[in-house]
Amino acid sequence: MKLTDLLENEKCIGITGHIRPDGDCIGSTLGLYNYLTENMPSVDVFLFLEEVGEEFKFLCNVDKIQHQPLDLKFDIFFVLDCSSIDRIEPFETCFINAKKTVCIDHHISNLDYADVRIVEENASSTCEVLYKLLDEEKVSKAVAECIYTGIIHDTGVFKYSCTSALTMQIAGKLMDKGIDYPQIIDESFYKKTYIQNQILGRALLESVMFYNGKCIFSAISQEVLDFYGVTGKELGGIVEQLRLTEGVDVAIFMYQTGENEYKVSLRSKKDIDVAQIAVYFGGGGHVRAAGFTGVGKVHHIINAIGELIEKQNKWGS
Ligand code: AMP
Ligand code: MN
Ligand code: MN
Repeated sequence: MKLTDLLENEKCIGITGHIRPDGDCIGSTLGLYNYLTENMPSVDVFLFLEEVGEEFKFLCNVDKIQHQPLDLKFDIFFVLDCSSIDRIEPFETCFINAKKTVCIDHHISNLDYADVRIVEENASSTCEVLYKLLDEEKVSKAVAECIYTGIIHDTGVFKYSCTSALTMQIAGKLMDKGIDYPQIIDESFYKKTYIQNQILGRALLESVMFYNGKCIFSAISQEVLDFYGVTGKELGGIVEQLRLTEGVDVAIFMYQTGENEYKVSLRSKKDIDVAQIAVYFGGGGHVRAAGFTGVGKVHHIINAIGELIEKQNKWGS
């Protein structure tokens, strides 16, 4: 399947990704936006996403992203890196009004919600799935930067188990487009502000191990977020640092989003299927990285996750 197989004589194209967009979501949607505007100059293309993090502001045309839905009837509407349609708010109306809808994704938990479904569960990232749909010759440096950024974010710079030989081959082809990859890796992935480092330190200091050190969790309350003056967008990387703790298989990180509501991130090294756990709570993701919105007090959420870990019966009793 190629992107051209999906396109006929569309005049108006819409693109979106998931709420709280991450690197793969931003890279894939902006990569597709740039590819279409460069190669189909007579077509109107609109990209809808929530506000993106500072670390992605270097990407070409990031300022063209629309943050409010438009009252347009799209000939075709693309939803990228999004496992279920309830995760595209506030842009549902654009999707509902579109003549044709396409989902491009890599989540194992993807629900079949669009007219055309291009989902590769074994792909490292949506950016990888997207790249394969494009004509390699027509991929510009600007598009390559977007796709490379998405791949490094979903693979943790080529180290998570979702990274395949094909991921590396695609990355090589993107490097051949002349992108400044050391700069992209440092600026968009590793760089942290002083405040981000402080809050990382605090999350690590207050972390708690359980199940004989096989699980670790840490939670950041709204009060703490307010104290440091940070938003959830700035907490990337904390769950990964927890996951790296020696002996740990499952890392859980959550931050408060409402009175009794938390954004929960789950990571595992090898034993536990965290996608299954996230889906149970109405979220989704991948076997080794998943998330959901948790309702209740921190200890209730942790206890409930603990029970589901136990049910997977990986560590004896
Ligand atoms: P995060 O912990 O937010 O980095 O998310 C890890 C993975 O799980 C990503 O692929 C997300 O798209 C997915 N994910 C996180 N939260 C949710 C959710 N509420 N519903 C569905 N998928 C989610
Ligand atoms: Mn994502
Ligand atoms: Mn992704």
